[in-house]
Amino acid sequence: TAVSLALSVAACGKAGDDNDSADSGSSKGGKTIGLLLPDSVTERYAKFDRPFFEDKVEELCSDCKVEYANAAGDASKQAQQVTTMITKGVKVIVISAQDSAAIKSSIQAAVDKGIKVVAYDRLAQGPVSAYVSFDNVKVGELQGQALLDALGDKATKKSKVVMINGDDADPNAGQFKEGAHKVLDGKVDIAYEQSGLWKDTVASQKMSAAITQIGAKKIAGVYAANDGMAGGIATTLKGAGISGIPLTGQDAELAGIQRIVAGTQSSTVYKAFKPEADAAAQLAVNLLEGKDIKDLATETLTSGSGDKVPSQLLTPVSVTKANINDTVIKDKLYTVADICTAE
Ligand code: BGC
Repeated sequence: TAVSLALSVAACGKAGDDNDSADSGSSKGGKTIGLLLPDSVTERYAKFDRPFFEDKVEELCSDCKVEYANAAGDASKQAQQVTTMITKGVKVIVISAQDSAAIKSSIQAAVDKGIKVVAYDRLAQGPVSAYVSFDNVKVGELQGQALLDALGDKATKKSKVVMINGDDADPNAGQFKEGAHKVLDGKVDIAYEQSGLWKDTVASQKMSAAITQIGAKKIAGVYAANDGMAGGIATTLKGAGISGIPLTGQDAELAGIQRIVAGTQSSTVYKAFKPEADAAAQLAVNLLEGKDIKDLATETLTSGSGDKVPSQLLTPVSVTKANINDTVIKDKLYTVADICTAE
C-alpha cells in the first residue's frame, strides 16, 4: 500500500544518511556528544542505533549535538576517531568498541581530558562511567534453545551441530558463545566450532570448512552468532545442497526475518534497539549536564580491565516465524510490506 511504501522509503532514507564521517555536526566545544559505532556491515548501527540515539538526545537536550563516527570494523580507525572527538571538544563519548581491549588507552586519554565515556552495547575496557546493553549470556541461551527447539526430536547427542561465533575482540561474542554452550552442551554433538570477524564472508568460509570436515548430509543444524553471519552461512548451505536445517541468528535484521519467513533460517534474537539507544542517550545527557546517573544503573559489572561499571542490561527476545508479528512488526521496525518484498 502507499502508506507502507512511504514508511519503508522513509526508513531507507535514514539508513542512506550514514556517511561514516566524524565531521558532521558541531564546531568545537558546546554540548556535544560523540557516538562511535563499530562496523558498517551490520545493519543495526546505521538503520536503528544511530537515528534512535540522535532522536533521543534531541528530545532530551535541544541544544546538544551528536558527532557520529563508524569504525568500519577497524580498531585503529576507531582509536583515531576518539582522538578526533577529543580534539573537537566533545563532552561525552558513547562507544561500541570494535576491540574492547585495544580501545582502553583511547578511553583513558578521553577521561584524562575530562570527557565522560559510556560503553554502548559492548563493554569497553578502561574507566567508563556507565554501560548499557542486553543480557548477552541470555542472548546465547536463547540462540541455543531456539536451535534445540528447531531440531526437535533430532536433538540427540549424535546430532552434529556447527557453531560459528562472533569476533573475539568483542566481549559480547564470548558471552553469546557461553550462553549457547550452557544450553547445547551434552544435548548435541558440537562437531565444528570457530570464532571469526562479524562478517558474512568470514562465516561463509567457515561454513564451507565445516561441510568439508563433517560432510554435507551429516550436519543437523548451525549456530550462527548473528544475522550477518547467518546470511553468509545460508548462501553456503544452499550452494552445498543443504536445505531445511535449523540456523540461528541475532539482530532481527530485515534479511534475517525474510529468511525466517522463507524457511532458510529458523530463528533470530531481537534486542529492541530503541530502549537501548534511549538509555544511552539519557546517560550521555545526564553526564553532560553533570546530573546523577545512579538511578539509571541496575547493576555493577566488571569489565575486562577490572573496572567496576554501573550498568543497565535489557532483556532479549527470541524470534521465530511464530512471533514476528508480536515483536518487530509490533515495534514498527518493519512493515509487513518490508518483509514480504521479494529481494
Ligand atoms: C552486537 C550484535 C551485533 C554484533 C556485530 C555485537 O556486539 O551485540 O548486535 O550483531 O556485535 O556488530
